[in-house]
Amino acid sequence: MTYDFAVIGAGVSGITSAITLAKKGFHVALLEKADRTAPLVRGFSRRGIHFDTGFHYTGGLGSGQPLDVFFRYLGISDRIVSFQYDEDGFDLFSCENPGFEFRFPTGYNRLQETLGEAFPRERGAIANYLAQVRSMCASIPYLNLNMEIDPNGALQRVLGPTLQETLDALSGNALLKSLLSTHSLLYGVSCNEVAFAQHAAIVGSYYESVHGIRGGGASLARAFDGRLAELGVDVLCNSKVTGLSISNGGALSGVRLEGGDSLACRGAIATIHPRLIPELAPEGTFRPAYRKRLGTFEETISAFACFAATKMPIPTLAKTNRFLIPDTESIYQLGSRPIGRAPLYLTAAYKNGETNPQGFIGICPTLFSAVSAWESSSFGNRPEEYRLYKEQALARMQAQIERAYPDITGNVQFIEGSTPLTIRDFCSTPLGGLYGAKHMVGQFNPHSATRIPGLFLAGQAIVAPGLMGAIISGFLACGTLLGHDFMRRELKACC
Ligand SMILES: Cc1cc2nc3c(=O)[nH]c(=O)nc-3n(C[C@H](O)[C@H](O)[C@H](O)COP(=O)(O)OP(=O)(O)OC[C@H]3O[C@@H](n4cnc5c(N)ncnc54)[C@H](O)[C@@H]3O)c2cc1C
Repeated sequence: MTYDFAVIGAGVSGITSAITLAKKGFHVALLEKADRTAPLVRGFSRRGIHFDTGFHYTGGLGSGQPLDVFFRYLGISDRIVSFQYDEDGFDLFSCENPGFEFRFPTGYNRLQETLGEAFPRERGAIANYLAQVRSMCASIPYLNLNMEIDPNGALQRVLGPTLQETLDALSGNALLKSLLSTHSLLYGVSCNEVAFAQHAAIVGSYYESVHGIRGGGASLARAFDGRLAELGVDVLCNSKVTGLSISNGGALSGVRLEGGDSLACRGAIATIHPRLIPELAPEGTFRPAYRKRLGTFEETISAFACFAATKMPIPTLAKTNRFLIPDTESIYQLGSRPIGRAPLYLTAAYKNGETNPQGFIGICPTLFSAVSAWESSSFGNRPEEYRLYKEQALARMQAQIERAYPDITGNVQFIEGSTPLTIRDFCSTPLGGLYGAKHMVGQFNPHSATRIPGLFLAGQAIVAPGLMGAIISGFLACGTLLGHDFMRRELKACC
């Protein structure tokens, strides 16, 4: 049997691509190397507590906003229950030195007002910054369904200016600049590397509205599974793609799977890390320069994370995430500070089905080099030194959390840690990058179209990380195939 399309990787971008193609009537195979679809966002459970991994919260899911429209198009709106984060403070920024707290409210106007109250002398800079974020978001195709694909627009995200340059031009206030750079933890690139345009494209939707999904990423994954089944997509888990088959004419004709099987198809969308693409393509199919470019992409920051259950519920964590920032400089070079004295993101974990948090997840940006001594070890088979490193790092992280949030002190029932090696193996990112390849000034991430007829690319490396970026990358790949006008019309019908 020959499929119309094979989609490689059943993450959010692969599932989006598969649903879009199946809706158009194509016969689609969705190939995933893990034993379940959407492994990154699905999370895991320990002793009745659900811990999210690749999805905690999202912007743009308010009624009629882009993600709401995308979910309706994908047919999952009725299969999930979303809830709004605290409108007065979806994220609480706490700077230890100088002592300062700021609650990010939702809505551009309220954010401008609240920032202005905290920084009265910076009202002009704040208004200017928010206006720039807003206009940048409005210029992004698919985020704005009326925008045409414009290669020059995409270039802004490669040529700069950086977020830091933009903020420096607006204000001299270190605390304000640190505050506005904090969300760099959501995409894993330091503010002196990320283009302002890229930063704006990601944070802009969070400034509009912030939602979570009841049951977390697992509910989202189940909703996707139901929709894929309904549309007749052949979902093949435990199917690692090891190569692309190319016809004599040079077009894609199939994919090869680990174990020796192969699958014939007329086209494919690959959503895996771009560094892994050259390994799949036969020698000579890509130009050496392109192969080298894909193979040398810089990676987003990795992380050390903790997953804890508490004896008593911690209501203060419900609907508000915490960003703990040791000082105004610490957010600038992600990964440069040791665990325990580095910026830290803290979010809630819930007992299955409940709405009062009974646990937490902490994520601290960490360089891969912290664990590279053990990079040849594999899960379940790591040496004693690694275990010691993990234990000490976990103790430092727990102490930092308890210092900042006394209601957690003495309340921890159990706590486990994960390191950049865990992320490398779990997320299939070669250097444990939280969000795969960086989007940074000077790095030309690949386009959806490739030189091989029939092969297209999607995934967080193409547009942006996050649910929104991964979904748009799927639409972009399908739009490249089916026509962007068609894609936009389909999406607009769901507005
Ligand atoms: C700790 C963490 C927290 C996050 N929190 C949020 C959040 O709160 N909100 C938000 O919006 N985003 C969040 N994200 C980001 C978001 O999860 C990702 O950007 C998004 O899920 C990426 O989707 P993707 O489809 O591009 O990639 P992936 O999910 O990585 O999909 C690629 C798939 O390909 C599979 N694969 C790899 N190689 C092969 C092969 N050879 N053959 C077959 N299959 C293969 C992989 O197993 C994987 O399932 C978070 C990420 C992390 C790591």
